[in-house]
Amino acid sequence: MLLELKHGRVYDPTHGIDGEPRTLHVRNGRLCAPPRTARPDQVYNLRGLVVMPGGIDPHTHMAGGKSNLGRLLLHEDHRDHPVAGGRLTRPGSGHVVPTAALTGYRYAALGYTTCFEPAMLPANARQVHLEFGDMPIIDKGCYVLLGNDDVLLETLAASRHPGQAIRDYVAWMVAATRAQAVKIVNPGGINAFKYNQRSLDLDERNRGYGLSPRHILVELARAVHELGLPHPLHIHGCNLGAPGSVDTSLRTITALEGIPAHLTHLQFHAYGNAGKRGFSPGGHQLAAAVNNHPNLTIDAGQLMFGQTLTASGDTMHQYAAREHARPRRMICMDIECEAGCGVLPFRYREASFVNALQWAVGLQLYLLIDDPWRIFMTTDHPNGGPFTVYPKLIRLLMDRSFREQQLAEIHPEAAAMSELRGLQREYSLYEIAIITRAGPARSLGLQDRGHLGRGAVADIAVYRPQRDAERMFSAPEYVFKNGQLVARRGRIVALRDGQLLEALPDGMPKLSRPLERRYNDSHAGAAHNFPISNDELAEINSQAGIC
Ligand SMILES: [Zn+2]
Repeated sequence: MLLELKHGRVYDPTHGIDGEPRTLHVRNGRLCAPPRTARPDQVYNLRGLVVMPGGIDPHTHMAGGKSNLGRLLLHEDHRDHPVAGGRLTRPGSGHVVPTAALTGYRYAALGYTTCFEPAMLPANARQVHLEFGDMPIIDKGCYVLLGNDDVLLETLAASRHPGQAIRDYVAWMVAATRAQAVKIVNPGGINAFKYNQRSLDLDERNRGYGLSPRHILVELARAVHELGLPHPLHIHGCNLGAPGSVDTSLRTITALEGIPAHLTHLQFHAYGNAGKRGFSPGGHQLAAAVNNHPNLTIDAGQLMFGQTLTASGDTMHQYAAREHARPRRMICMDIECEAGCGVLPFRYREASFVNALQWAVGLQLYLLIDDPWRIFMTTDHPNGGPFTVYPKLIRLLMDRSFREQQLAEIHPEAAAMSELRGLQREYSLYEIAIITRAGPARSLGLQDRGHLGRGAVADIAVYRPQRDAERMFSAPEYVFKNGQLVARRGRIVALRDGQLLEALPDGMPKLSRPLERRYNDSHAGAAHNFPISNDELAEINSQAGIC
């Protein structure tokens, strides 16, 4: 099957192509060289249309235990947003935390073709893969959450030179849970919460193990780097959402001493404590620090106004935020001595000083970090807002007058403090293609996507240019997944199974006897039963029967 996509305005930053007319060819699901003689089986004339690689979301809480708790907690989100099935699609529900199948449809309809669940507790790995099996069209991967689990903390506490043991354990965990990367959340803090510590700064000691977040963070970041995993340690640092968190974030950056790292949803860690309300924007300082540290990439975790739900492994800070939950509900729990989970609904309001400032801080990061290859577009779905707000976020970045209109509607003190009005920058389509596709692909070590070069997976989104970027990005003209047309003007027109992306697909590293003993001592199940096999994954996907 040979497909020809003619004369589109191609945005492929990996190859420096900035809106030039190109014709693309696809054979067997991958981009290929123009054929010498063969005639294409299908031709699309894309003259005047914008062509980009399929979108890549590097951080979206779309599967696993906390997503299901979120669906339970915000049940009206499902009652009020039912979606009927179609000729091809299954029924579902939910705007903020949609059901698994709807998540796949909506991402594909937006032009996204690869997404990563960023906070998979090892104990929840099977649930995550089960939901992945139920999520059609898009390719998926996950990050395994370490850094509050008893095995890692005991190993760190027991040895002055734990490097090899940590590397062995990390490799085993990544392979066993079929993960693409490793994430850490509030290093040691979730564990400390179980010992009644209600905050833990970078150099305070965790009461259970006597370890500081700095120590845990640096050891884990080094282990991930030395193992050569494709994505550096994905860091949700200390003091999430707290006034003064910008200072902790700056010290965290220094603590890494140049080790490659990704700082996630940095907006939630970028608040000062100045001013009469004790809450001030820290985006300027953090953007400057990121600009000065080429070892770092970040995603913003932009907050957008409206009802949403926050779901995080950071039990400590979710518990601290309980008074602000709207509606007033919370689930807060420990999970298998590995981490925790805090789920709270939030309704972000323009009229709230704090929410308005959070919104402005996210935009500061986008507008002040110089290199678009080092900042990726996220809302930390659904924590800052559901991923369906991405087209509006793109408009905020591309259209300064729209941004200023929005700025006029938020709390005036927050608007004034943010100094956003003075920021002239407008993203180009080329830069949007970097922060939504090419950059995440590079950071995640995905060589076969995020670009439109020969050999790449033919994941392609085609948009009709419009002055209103929100409209333009809301419903792509065409979305191709592996060369197959799957969505047309926001409607799903074909289904297919997505692929699992994982860092160590070739065999299971062995766990040393001391680590195995440690694992067996702190878990309900034995280590030898834990790894997820190929057969198990195949069974999940075949039983899901999504196509
Ligand atoms: Zn997150």
